[in-house]
Formats: sequence, C-alpha cells, structure tokens
Amino acid sequence: MTDALISFEPATGEELWRSAVSDVDSEVEAARRAWPEWASKAVTYRSETLRRFVDRVKAESETLADLIARETGKPLWEARTEVESVANKVDISIKAYAERTPNRRIEGAMGLRNAVRHKPHGTLAVLGPYNFPAHLPNGHIVPALLAGNSVVFKPSEKTPAVGAKLVELFHSAGVPEEVLRLVVGGPEQGKALAAHPAIDGLLFTGSATTGVALSRQFAGQPGKMLALEMGGNNPIIVWDTADLHTAAILVVQSAFLSAGQRCSNARRLIVKQGLAEPLLDEVKTLAGRLIVDHPHADPAPYMGPVIDNEAADHLTENFLILMSNGGRVVRHMSRPIADRPFLTPGIIDVTGMAERPDVELFGPLLQVVRVDSFEAAIAEANNTSFGLSASLIGGTPQLYDQFWANARAGVINWNRPTNGASSAAPFGGIGLSGNHRPSAFYAADYCAYPVASSESDAVRASIGVGLREDEGAKLVTKKYL
Ligand code: NAD
Repeated sequence: MTDALISFEPATGEELWRSAVSDVDSEVEAARRAWPEWASKAVTYRSETLRRFVDRVKAESETLADLIARETGKPLWEARTEVESVANKVDISIKAYAERTPNRRIEGAMGLRNAVRHKPHGTLAVLGPYNFPAHLPNGHIVPALLAGNSVVFKPSEKTPAVGAKLVELFHSAGVPEEVLRLVVGGPEQGKALAAHPAIDGLLFTGSATTGVALSRQFAGQPGKMLALEMGGNNPIIVWDTADLHTAAILVVQSAFLSAGQRCSNARRLIVKQGLAEPLLDEVKTLAGRLIVDHPHADPAPYMGPVIDNEAADHLTENFLILMSNGGRVVRHMSRPIADRPFLTPGIIDVTGMAERPDVELFGPLLQVVRVDSFEAAIAEANNTSFGLSASLIGGTPQLYDQFWANARAGVINWNRPTNGASSAAPFGGIGLSGNHRPSAFYAADYCAYPVASSESDAVRASIGVGLREDEGAKLVTKKYL
C-alpha cells in the first residue's frame, strides 16, 4: 500500500477520489479517548443525534446515491435503495436496542431488586466490504454508536469515498468527531486495526477468507467481541410449480441482482430433473434480456459492472475452469467491453462434474445441478461449507417444512429470492458464512453486554446457619448505619 489510496470508477476507469492512508494508532487512540463521555450520555441523546444523521442522509440522498453508483458501478436506482436502507437503519436500531437490550428490574423480597442493564464494549472497529459500502458498515456503526461505543471504521479500499462521505454525514449530524473515526486504507490497515490492543471488538462484513484470518487473529482473546458476516455459496431449489416463468424471474433475481455481488445471491440452482430443460430455457431467455450498462445509463440497467477488472478476470477464468472440468454451458459469460469489468450473466450446468468447487464466485455466475428427488435436492443444497441463504421455489407446504427443517442456512425463504431479507429480522449465517453473531435487527446483541445487578436500598444482611452461639453472632444482624 502506497501513502495514497485512490478510488476508480469501475464503469469508466476514471479516478474518483484519493486520500492519504490513515495512521491506525492515532485513530484508535482518538476513539478510545472519546468513548467514556459518549457512553455516559443518555440513550435518548444518542438516539436524537442519530435521527439528525437521518436528516442529513435525506438532505444529501442524491449526492450519496450518485457516489455509491459511481464508486461501486451499481445502477443508480439500486444505489438509491441503498441510501434508503442507510436512513431506515436508525429507527430500526432504536427499536432493536429497546427490544434486544432492554433494562429490566425484577422485584424481590424485602426491597431486594435484581436489575439487568447493558453496557457498551468501549471502542469497536468496523471493517466494511465494497458491495454495499454505505448500508453494511452503517448496519454496524449505528447500533454500535447507539449503545454507547466509539467506532473506528475502515471502509473497503475499493470504496473509500463512500466510507468517507458516510463519516462526514455522521459528524455533520453531531456525532463527535472523536467518537467516530475513519481509517483510509486496505488489508494492511485492516490487520493493524484488528490487532490493535485498544479495541474492544471488531464488527466485520466481508469474505470468508478474511473472516477466517480474523477469527485466527482473535483466538486466545475471549474478552474481545468478534462479529463476522461472511459470504455464501447459496442454493435455490426449484421444485414442482406450474408457473415456470415466475420461477425463472425468482432465479434470475436471486442470481443476478447487483451483478451477483450480494452475499445472499444464489450461486447454485438445484432443479428437479423433469423441470430442468423448460426452466433453463426461461432463465436463459430472461437473463439474455437483462441490461448490463453504466450505472447512470438510460434506459436503466439491471446490472452494472463488477467492482474491477481483477474481479471480472477471476469470474471469467472460473467460468472456463468449470467448462473445462465437465460443465455444460447454458449461457456464456462475456465481457462486452474488453478493458472494463462489465459481465453478462453466465449460466453453467455442472451436474456432470465429478467434483464441484465449494467457493463463493462473487459475480453473475450461476451453476445448475439437476437432481431426481427432493431429498437429493436438500442434500445438494447443504453440500457446502457456507450457510447463508437458501430458497425453495414451488413445492408444497409439507415440502417447505422439510426444506426449512433440513436446510443449513441463516436465511431460509419460500417462493422468494435468496436475497430477500427484512432488516427487521436478524441476518447472518452458519459455517463459513458467520460466527453466530447475526447482524441487522440482532446487531444490538453484539454492541452491548448485559450486566446483572442485585441491589438493595439498605445495607442489610444475616447469616442464618453455620454460626456458633456466641456474642459475635448478634453482631451479624446488627444494622450499621
Ligand atoms: P474482503 O474480505 O476482501 O474485505 C472486507 C474488508 O476487510 C475490507 O475493508 C478489507 O480492506 C479488509 N481486509 C481484507 N483483508 C484483511 C485482513 N487480512 N485483515 C483485516 N482486514 C482485512 O471482502 P470484500 O471483497 O470487500 O467484500 C465481498 C465479500 O463480502 C463477499 O465474500 C461477500 O459475500 C461478503 N459480504 C457478506 C455480507 C454478509 O452480511 N454476510 C454482506 C456483504 C458482503
């Protein structure tokens, strides 16, 4: 990493933003100094400050959406939905804080009370991915600040401009500058932040490779919070349905929304043998109609480019590897502009492959597996070390019950895309997809820890058994004022 970090627009290759790389130590120290005062404020104060952040986001929604679209390449309409999610996060987090981490008092005999209250951890590091550069880190930052933590946020090195803009909006809303710090940098700065002795935890969204490295790095430090949101190799099963056209729409949305750059995109279509040909015809036709273009193009595209040429090369190479290992091409993945990372949706039938790689191919690439029985479909769905999202399209309520009971994933949907998740629900996965610290509505759980207190207004105590009968025993019941 050089001393400057430069961000380029994927769609044009033009430079968008540059800044000096941050000094991690000084950013952590600033946040460390600031957190006790922030934690001592009433939660209503912090809520109001964050509501002003919503006002700031709404006032600058078009600027932010434009920046997200330019820096990620995602269509402007989709960037606008990301901005909406950023604004909605505050009310959801306030509700979640109240529901998931409420204060409780349990009255006992003789004025004794047991209380449960929650405390912030202190200073939390947040590492963000590039695919939702505002919404996903925001999903950690808002609940962390609300609970009274200070935060050191390092956006992805591929989307630092959006990260910097997000921090600027928090500061302009009244979040003290030292309470939320920005670290500009790449993996090197991420490692330094994660290893910093003065952080109390790390909230991470990104790839399984990085998540596993962080998990190793945090081994032996049980005192630190580590929340990992990682990738998926998500299955979508299509079973008996009379409406193959709608099934195809759900498959295409699941696989190709955000140019396949969502953790919850379907990577594997598992289909009943008898339905495979007509369904694939529908999916192929629909995929061929998807507009792949610049984020601001008119008519609006369904998909923009992937994040950079390296990612596009990686995907096209993997398509070729699947082909040369027995995959049958349903639809070629192509590069319409040679030097830019636009990709058309690729579909490949890998049923005949002896060994299918269990990796997340983070782009518009769908693998198809045909199966003969529903049991085989579920076994195939679970044939992965990941466990983020899984959908069943078609079938019956009984088959859905069977699917729900046996599918190993943190998000399980029926007749909905794999990427349909409510922010009012927890979001996370098992296996290589997460470490049982789901985010979204349950983010409140990892931003504060519960403290149990037994309390009495008066100093009162007695020892009822096990004392010798002597003068000293009387002292025990004497009240000291
Ligand atoms: P990434 O793992 O490459 O990077 C994520 C962040 O970690 C970046 O800020 C990066 O600079 C930092 N980083 C990289 N290596 C590091 C290291 N060794 N130590 C410390 N920090 C390091 O992920 P990405 O490519 O930016 O994002 C795409 C991935 O994120 C996909 O795998 C996707 O599935 C996943 N994702 C998961 C969710 C979820 O909620 N589960 C949501 C969105 C994206």
